[in-house]
Amino acid sequence: MTDSNDKPTLGRKPLGLKRSVEAGEVKQTFSHGRTNKVVVEVKRRKLIGKPGEAPLAAPPPPPAAPEPAAVAPAPTPRAPAPAAESRQEMQARLLREAEEARLAVLEEQTRREQEEKARALEEERRRAEENRKAETVVEVAPAAVEPVEAPAAAAPEPAADELEVETKSEAAAPAPRRFTPVAAPKRPEPVAKKPAHAARDRKGGDERRGGKLTVTRALNDDEGARARSLAALKRAREKEKRAHFAGQSQPREKQVRDVVVPEAITVQELANRMAEKGADLVKALFKMGMMVTVNQTIDQDTAELLVEEFGHNIQRVSENDVDIDTAMDVDDDASLLPRPPVVTIMGHVDHGKTSLLDALRGTDVVRGEAGGITQHIGAYQIKTKGGELITFLDTPGHEAFTEMRMRGANVTDIVILVVAGDDGLMPQTVEAINHTKAAGVPMIVAITKSDKPEFNPQKIRERLLEHEILVEAMSGEVQDVEVSAKTGAGLDELIEKILLQAELLELKANPDRAAEATVIEAKLDKGKGPLATVLITRGTLKVGDILVVGTHSGRVRAMLDDKGRQIKAAPPALPVEVLGLGGVPMAGDTLTVVESEARAREVAAFRQERATAKRTTSAPTSLENMFSALSAKQAVIEYPVVIRSDVQGSTEAIVNALNKLSNDEIKVRVLQSGVGAITESDVGLAQASGAPIIGFNVRPNAKAREMIERQKVRLKYFDVIYHLTDEVAKEMAGIWGPERIEHVVGRAEVKEVFPAGKRDKAAGLLVLEGYIKKGINARLTRNDVIVSQTLIHSLRRFKDDVPEVRAGLECGVVLADTNDIKPGDMLEVFEVEERERTL
Ligand code: GDP
Ligand code: MG
Repeated sequence: MTDSNDKPTLGRKPLGLKRSVEAGEVKQTFSHGRTNKVVVEVKRRKLIGKPGEAPLAAPPPPPAAPEPAAVAPAPTPRAPAPAAESRQEMQARLLREAEEARLAVLEEQTRREQEEKARALEEERRRAEENRKAETVVEVAPAAVEPVEAPAAAAPEPAADELEVETKSEAAAPAPRRFTPVAAPKRPEPVAKKPAHAARDRKGGDERRGGKLTVTRALNDDEGARARSLAALKRAREKEKRAHFAGQSQPREKQVRDVVVPEAITVQELANRMAEKGADLVKALFKMGMMVTVNQTIDQDTAELLVEEFGHNIQRVSENDVDIDTAMDVDDDASLLPRPPVVTIMGHVDHGKTSLLDALRGTDVVRGEAGGITQHIGAYQIKTKGGELITFLDTPGHEAFTEMRMRGANVTDIVILVVAGDDGLMPQTVEAINHTKAAGVPMIVAITKSDKPEFNPQKIRERLLEHEILVEAMSGEVQDVEVSAKTGAGLDELIEKILLQAELLELKANPDRAAEATVIEAKLDKGKGPLATVLITRGTLKVGDILVVGTHSGRVRAMLDDKGRQIKAAPPALPVEVLGLGGVPMAGDTLTVVESEARAREVAAFRQERATAKRTTSAPTSLENMFSALSAKQAVIEYPVVIRSDVQGSTEAIVNALNKLSNDEIKVRVLQSGVGAITESDVGLAQASGAPIIGFNVRPNAKAREMIERQKVRLKYFDVIYHLTDEVAKEMAGIWGPERIEHVVGRAEVKEVFPAGKRDKAAGLLVLEGYIKKGINARLTRNDVIVSQTLIHSLRRFKDDVPEVRAGLECGVVLADTNDIKPGDMLEVFEVEERERTL
């Protein structure tokens, strides 16, 4: 229907001209307020035969056709009709089939259709009546008839006359379709009326004839509306077919996929990647003799069998293919440029680390200029008077330092060992020395508090010798400085020595590449989301960079330096706070800039998977542990805890410290550890496992607090790690219970066995070693196999009860709870000492 002008009568077809005279216009109203004007011509015509006799499939060529249309006085060249004989049949069949299917499958719909049919019949009958009336008035010249509804409804099935309806209507077209499926099979009459399209009339001289509607016509109509109608039928058939085939596994053409399979994959994940049902995979595995659930992990080889079974192609990937291997990616020497040194300050508590860091920060020329609003990001960079840059890491202690190193994040170039000149080498000083030595990082000794009267640097230098540290003042290699954070004395010298050391180290990095950085500290900020302070190790990190950090992906939304200024790009050795991460990473994690978000997600997902696998694979972690656990043959006592702290570094330090408390028999099990306030999830977990919640510098949120009260979960707050570990160690020792120590005090051989009393047996013994006491623990062995472990119930010598019998003497005993005694058995008696345990 190309003619979509407002006025159908003014269409481009010539018939429009005649309309004014012979046609009437009818305004049609449809649902949704659509209206349409339809031109209707009515002409009386004689019918040959009764309408009911007409065959359903309107037969052959127009002139010979029994179809009423065929006898029309002026047969229009109804082009589509003759050409589509078989098609017509097919369509009729389709109609029938569709109808049947629908009847069978959708009873409900059928009922509705029947109602519609009834309505249609009613309508048609009424229309026919009207037509007849109209025809009495109008003879050859057609008169306007009023089709009340859509022209389709004007099908005057039982009428003696046939109605020719010509419409030039778009809106009318869809209406008849409602009736077609019903009408065709049920009404064999060739009278299903359809609005013919004006286009058809172009061909014939008689426009009115062209507009005539017959079944043949209607069915052959291959223009828009009809074609769509056929499509609808096809859909109906498809639907039926689908309903029929539902439940069968291969209804559709299979799509062969390239399935990426890592070294281990869960069945469900594999199913997802293959776009198959998880249950089908499980079934297939079952056939292969593997009983697994969708959540279980299978190896690459099994996955390959499955992938092939389902007709897909496998793409094996190994960890290295997915994960980023920064070690392989070595920068060309030519691309390397000098970079600032990264300095960590370590030493015993109260020896002045923080004071020294602050004092050094005070020497920053940039900060001096800027007015010095300092933001704590766990690291900062200063610019010396000479213009050199030095980065200082503000680590919480040597544990964190080693923790980072253990994760392969050896970011520190130089360690400053702080020793108070008024004190001496303290335990943590020694630990710091050991950690530094283990890391192989050069050290500068800063002997602090030089302003104090009791300052005695010489004593410190001598004490350092014990730890094989020979300072310069003692003609050694290690640089040493006397400083005072209070007066600022020696600070310049310290900076000079740092720079000198840095020069020796020839620190270089390629600033002109995708950035790599190490997480120094990370936390979850309420407003800003996950925040991480990272130290750029190479390349330049820019705002907008897509990155992977630990198990998270993200994009640099913004970067802040230690002075709280927004920066756009961060060069090597600059510590910056990064916003825009997908989650809170861990201290020591590597941040890597990648080329695309897809890659970032892939790597993050991969790492997450691996982390999950690691977590769900419960201890034992090492062979050594495993064997000792096996040999102990007893369940390891677990001490579960939930840990929350303010910063990631502390969390890790706590977890590590607690893990160190564990041994073969009792171990700490960290159910959950995280950064930020204690949440309901923590409480739920703690409650479920009977674990205490340990909060380090954090508090529960309101909901969690309420839950804690309600569920009586134990909550412990700490702000010093040592207190925390002491407390936990005490608790663990309590749970573990006192240690039982056996002291064997005597040994005896069973010489004979005789009855004692009604049921019991007594053993005649010869004490070989030590002594036997009444009431003492005894173990009876036969051929070195323990038969029973019991108590000495009674002890006699020559019918007299005695408290104790010494080696070399004979005696008789009755054992508690056992009568299984034979001559030749050995009896070992022992005392048990219970000792409180410490961890
Ligand atoms: P940290 O625990 O190693 O970080 O030590 P702090 O920096 O907190 O210092 C511990 C105490 O030593 C504080 O009371 C400081 O005021 C004091 N202190 C630190 N450096 C100096 C110094 O150079 N001179 C004097 N007189 N006191 C100092
Ligand atoms: Mg401090």
